[in-house]
Amino acid sequence: MSEHGCELRFRALFYGLLRIRRKGRKTMARVLIIGCGGVATVGIVKCTQHPEVFEEICIASRTLSKCDALKERLQPTTKTKITTCKIDAGNLEEVVALMKSYKPDMLIHMGMPYHNLVLMEACVRCKVHYLDTAAYEPEDVNEPEFRKYYDNRCKEKGFYAYFDYPFQWAYRKKFEEAGIVGVLGCGFDPGVTQAYVAYAKKHEFDTIDTLDILDCNGGDHGYKFATNFNPEINLREVSSPGAYWEDHKWHRVEPMSIHRTYDFDGVGVKDMYLLHHEEIESLGLNYPEIKKIRFFMTFGQSYLDHMRCLEDVGMLSPKAISYNGVEIVPIQFLKALLPDPATLGPRTHGRTNIGCIFTGKKDGKEKKYYIYNVSDHQEAYKETGAQAISYTTGVPAMCGAMMVLTGKWNTPGVHNVEEFNPDPFIDALNKYGLPTRESYDPVLVD
Ligand code: NDP
Repeated sequence: MSEHGCELRFRALFYGLLRIRRKGRKTMARVLIIGCGGVATVGIVKCTQHPEVFEEICIASRTLSKCDALKERLQPTTKTKITTCKIDAGNLEEVVALMKSYKPDMLIHMGMPYHNLVLMEACVRCKVHYLDTAAYEPEDVNEPEFRKYYDNRCKEKGFYAYFDYPFQWAYRKKFEEAGIVGVLGCGFDPGVTQAYVAYAKKHEFDTIDTLDILDCNGGDHGYKFATNFNPEINLREVSSPGAYWEDHKWHRVEPMSIHRTYDFDGVGVKDMYLLHHEEIESLGLNYPEIKKIRFFMTFGQSYLDHMRCLEDVGMLSPKAISYNGVEIVPIQFLKALLPDPATLGPRTHGRTNIGCIFTGKKDGKEKKYYIYNVSDHQEAYKETGAQAISYTTGVPAMCGAMMVLTGKWNTPGVHNVEEFNPDPFIDALNKYGLPTRESYDPVLVD
């Protein structure tokens, strides 16, 4: 071979290797993380376990000292470069300015759902992928314009939660035009439960007839009353009327009026109650074949007694009252009195069990299928410093972001989790902390 030919081959090899390296680098991303509470702590710990994807992260939240403390704890353990920043996630200009200077590839929102719309708008303006863990709901549910929308929606659709998806779905076209991916509700429920539905449809059923989502927290933190995620969001959700989806419409039920018991693998027998939950809304639309979708969550008697009493005396009200000349929102005042869910980790023992039970048909035959995860509070705490409710939310948030950043979920627009390929996501959950269990003969909920 001539010297020239040899040089050409060498050059081709050199540039080929360079391209491979650059391509490899493309999956290494800079990510802006909003929030530094229980869920965000887990999400951040898990991102730092994968510096090959999360090359740099900025933790941006309301209380800078919490972000700095987490950075101090994690930086010596990881190659991910961590920076921190104080931000008001409700202030669009502030968020856009931060994004313009930090230039993230993706924003992972693990703060409050009140700020989803502001953060989505900022992502459109800066062309940055977006992921959150809960559906939008306004902070002030008495704001007149929202109230009008809410009263109409309750009458027309028949469900009474303060959250729903249309506000975020309205961003679909803007996300498509910006060429960015928006992943809505990528915690466990919503989130993994919807991936389980997509997985069941892809691998186990020709048609799904019924779906029951069961969320069991068998953990004990030793307090008479505490919520295991943000108290304001938790108590709003639980004290609202329940609803389920049957024959393409909502059926409203009084709060906690449908009660069942279930023997959960890894936990034991628990009381559970039917609630409205946000993934029913998107699953009802995306899987019109499913005739009935219900959501059940377990609660202990002490939790229910305290919640009823607090509700009876007006402490769950989101409406401001004047006390000694000071304006107080009762539910926000209550939040200040209750234990911070982010501090429950060391004292919570026991397990969670969350999953989906299906009935349907495969090859003309009736079939039952249960897919679920069991997580241990103390194991979650040992690994991340947070209890299993935060763990089961933060791990899917990291895995969902990994799907987007590695191009496995790459359809521009705004999507619920069941719209993506469930296989690589469930593989990631299996590997990174939330292994899947299955049963082909589960006890059904009557
Ligand atoms: P926390 O209350 O522990 O954390 C919320 C974080 O958001 C805090 O760090 C808080 O700051 C920060 N924050 C609040 N307001 C602002 C603001 N204006 N600007 C910037 N940061 C702000 O909540 P959790 O971690 O328990 O829950 C986080 C989210 O996850 C919630 O939306 C919750 O609904 C959702 N979730 C989803 C689940 C699922 O399975 N899909 C399950 C559980 C929760 P500060 O530290 O100052 O308070």
